[in-house]
Amino acid sequence: MLTAVVGINWGDEGKGRMVDLLSDKYDVICRYQGGNNAGHTVVNDRGKFILNLLPSGILREGAVNVMGGGMVIDIEHLCGEVKALKEKGIDIKPDNLKISDKAFICMPYHKKQDILEEERLADKKYGSTRRGIAPVYGDKYMKKGLRMGDLLDSQTLKQKLTDIIEWKNITLNGYPSGRVNADDVLHWLDEFGKTFLPFITDTTEYLNTAVKAKKDVLFEAQLGALRDIDYGIYPYTTSSHTIAAYATAGAGVPGMKLDSVIGIMKAYSSCVGEGPFTAEMSGDEASALREAGAEYGAATGRPRRVGGFDIPASRYGVQVQGASEIALTKLDVLSYLDKIPVCTAYEVDGIKTGRFPSGSALMRAKPVIEYLDGFKTDISKCRNVKDLPEKAIKYIKYIEDAVSCRITYVSVGAERDDYVQMN
Ligand code: GDP
Ligand code: MG
Repeated sequence: MLTAVVGINWGDEGKGRMVDLLSDKYDVICRYQGGNNAGHTVVNDRGKFILNLLPSGILREGAVNVMGGGMVIDIEHLCGEVKALKEKGIDIKPDNLKISDKAFICMPYHKKQDILEEERLADKKYGSTRRGIAPVYGDKYMKKGLRMGDLLDSQTLKQKLTDIIEWKNITLNGYPSGRVNADDVLHWLDEFGKTFLPFITDTTEYLNTAVKAKKDVLFEAQLGALRDIDYGIYPYTTSSHTIAAYATAGAGVPGMKLDSVIGIMKAYSSCVGEGPFTAEMSGDEASALREAGAEYGAATGRPRRVGGFDIPASRYGVQVQGASEIALTKLDVLSYLDKIPVCTAYEVDGIKTGRFPSGSALMRAKPVIEYLDGFKTDISKCRNVKDLPEKAIKYIKYIEDAVSCRITYVSVGAERDDYVQMN
């Protein structure tokens, strides 16, 4: 069974939480894109964890975790993440973690460039997490990147790096205090790279062998459909493919077909950073929802923008993800509301539409808000459909119909077992 777990919205839907739950049924869990701009929160009997780079299956004993070639890896950050897990008694070994030799290394100068550019943009900034993600993917496509596999050959690494830094400084020279020094970077690569040498793997070979041996593989995405570089709210997107269509390619097995795509969709909307967010609430209404849902970025601590469930955006998310089923998360958060606001359509230049527009039309879109009855009951202890209040079921069914995809899980809390399996 090959399954992708992906975000339907702007990210932070609870993918980490659902991967942790579902990982029980899989032998291999593979993160296939993105870098440490992800923040996946997992709460289970081993504690509370915020994972940025490591796949969310890392807490399951016996599971093998893979960091695919579609990822960009800040090895200093990864060292810190591994150390933090070790302190909580979780050992990361080459047996339970394989890092693709094709994954790109996110360098200190990528981070620097990201910060310098956001500062240059000032009030036109993209809302980057400032972790170097856009510059490292940019360099990848400029063919000026270094990959994890390069760490295995220190002779050629030095030459490649020297050539790249020469080029990089041409760009960085345009910024105040931009220049980088090759020796400093080489030292950094040595210091943080050596830990991971035994983990570097040809993940194409590894995953092919695993699938041939009938192993079940779960592919984990970062962010959501609306942040995909091609299908998201460009340029307020990330710089990689968050969609399920990229799962096997980013993992290392592009020839394989997924059996299912589980879309993680939040019962309301949240969005961190800049960009169009049509259903956005403001004032007290927003503060109440932000507090109820603890909507602060796991990677950055930034307060997330919030809004009601957005039907045009979510329907589009389901479509571009090719979701075969949905896990609806954080439904418990809405229990304080007398009336639940839902963005049922957009109005663009006076014309009502159910479609999710792109470009400047999206920037001009206004939300059409309707209200559904609140369920006004604490549902966080519900574990069966029959425990759920009728109005909560009505909300679930309403959303299911609106996005035309089956909701199979409803999450009612952050912990592993806080969910209801729908029949
Ligand atoms: P991800 O980036 O998609 O993995 O999501 P995040 O971890 O960034 O954000 C989801 C947040 O909601 C985390 O703090 C989770 O612990 C929490 N969470 C996940 N599912 C639920 C749920 O059903 N109810 C509540 N109350 N919290 C949840
Ligand atoms: Mg997150």
